[in-house]
Amino acid sequence: MQSLPEQDMLRDLGIHRVIEPRGVLPQPAWKLDNTPVAYPTETLIDVQRLHIDSASFTQIVNACERDTTCMSRHITDIVTERGKMHNPVTGSGGVLIGTVVQLDEVFGTKHQLTIGDTIVSLTSLSWLPLYLEHIHHIHLKRSEIEMVGKAIFFRSNPMTKLPGDLPQSMVVAALDVAGAPARVAALAQPGQRVTVVGAGGTAGLLTLCALHQRLGTYGEIIAVEYSEQALQDIVALGVADVIVQADATRPLDLLEQMRRNCSGRDYLSDLTINVVNVPNTEFASILLTKPEGRILFFSMATSFTVAALGAEGMARQVEMHIGNGYMPDHGSVALQLLRDYPSLRTLFAERFE
Ligand code: NAP
Repeated sequence: MQSLPEQDMLRDLGIHRVIEPRGVLPQPAWKLDNTPVAYPTETLIDVQRLHIDSASFTQIVNACERDTTCMSRHITDIVTERGKMHNPVTGSGGVLIGTVVQLDEVFGTKHQLTIGDTIVSLTSLSWLPLYLEHIHHIHLKRSEIEMVGKAIFFRSNPMTKLPGDLPQSMVVAALDVAGAPARVAALAQPGQRVTVVGAGGTAGLLTLCALHQRLGTYGEIIAVEYSEQALQDIVALGVADVIVQADATRPLDLLEQMRRNCSGRDYLSDLTINVVNVPNTEFASILLTKPEGRILFFSMATSFTVAALGAEGMARQVEMHIGNGYMPDHGSVALQLLRDYPSLRTLFAERFE
């Protein structure tokens, strides 16, 4: 039997909405009760958009061969089956944008909210009960879904109000991966060589700017990216010291490219940030890092087993961090980077507006 404070804590986490299996928290649960009504301690949101996590969106795009009708059906099926937008293949979610329609008093005070405020979830969609009425449109280029529906927030769920000075789509995209630049800013030290794998993606571009701000002229930033367009974007951003075009799922070819781009000199990094959206890039990340260095695996496609056994097999004592999506800054580092770097804002505008 739980004590009263324990019961309150579990309710704040949303355990009362878990249907299956009983006794687990909402994120690992298979199915949530998504009844679109706010019970005591809950806040009800009118949802207008979902920004699907890149690993999840890429998986659905590939499964449906880019057919948006098939994608709509696929996404509706997931939400109907699970009561939340929690991709069963990738295990990841994304973020939502919506308006407060019913407000729990404690939640309102904590976040200084009133009814009618537009908010962005900083909690993964894999945690939040979602009721999907209709999908209007799927934006393939920006992993975004325009929809009609409702979501429930529990008292513990982080969120933020939409800032007035930046466009909505840009803010949502940045907040989806806001943990990456915030954590990188805390991990990187001036004087270090830092490599970003998947540097041309949303998290990658933000991470490059966070590193530029943190390292200043004391350090080296190496950007590894696969696609031609993303490479051009990294060049336009103008903060990477070395840019390498390579496929991180092919570690030996990648090392060859690194040697060439670094003219034979040492290229091993003190810190490697993995922000790709595809599996099988753990080995490349380990091989790019000094044996006593650190790796931040922010990618949702990371396999703990492959990373741990890979480092063991290569006799590297490298310290590996899991990219926890939560940072107490509530996304402010990511949003400030958009304000501080006009070239970043331009690239985000091209991609997301
Ligand atoms: P994104 O915009 O799709 O960026 C991924 C980048 O990786 C793209 O530029 C992509 O290039 C590149 N890439 C793909 N395959 C590659 C390869 N084989 N070698 C080198 N580069 C490759 O994704 P994002 O929104 O920035 O998200 C990055 C990752 O963070 C995703 O895995 C996402 O699921 C994860 N995530 C984690 C958290 C967390 O809490 N830890 C939260 C949100 C998101 P192309 O242009 O060719 O595709």
